[in-house]
Amino acid sequence: MPTQVIVPFDAEPRFPERCILCGEQRPSDRIAITRGVGYRGVLSPPIATRRLSVRAPVRDGCKWAFRRSAWFRNGVSGVLLGIAFTVSILITRGEPWSSRRLVSLVVLLVVWGPYHLWASRHPVAVDFGPGKKYGYVTFEFADPSYAREFESLNVSKGKKPDGI
Ligand SMILES: [Zn+2]
Repeated sequence: MPTQVIVPFDAEPRFPERCILCGEQRPSDRIAITRGVGYRGVLSPPIATRRLSVRAPVRDGCKWAFRRSAWFRNGVSGVLLGIAFTVSILITRGEPWSSRRLVSLVVLLVVWGPYHLWASRHPVAVDFGPGKKYGYVTFEFADPSYAREFESLNVSKGKKPDGI
């Protein structure tokens, strides 16, 4: 499971000067990561109200490993969602809308669930998305010690938002 750090998105997030993949000190390169950020309520799906771009320190050789892993995950996830969608449509043709929704959900769980479980146990080095409250971003790190360093650079003590 990744380690989460919640930071306000009005401040430019600062990264420890270590490679996000291998931890090498003062790597020569940076990688730009852009995601939608905004709001994620308890019962609502994430809503992106703006895009946030960060530049994370990375060693030259690790940059491609990071990109390849992102492409692989997006590819697998996209293909599986496509399969789930197609299967749902094929097996529920002519059925009433209420049972179609249920079947689609079951198909999605069966097809995409195992990948989702694998992905959450093998987190990418760094990722981020909407926080639980407007104005905050949730960062996720595979390496807990990197996450703690990032937190100490970006979250001042005693200034954590309410309810997070
Ligand atoms: Zn590295």
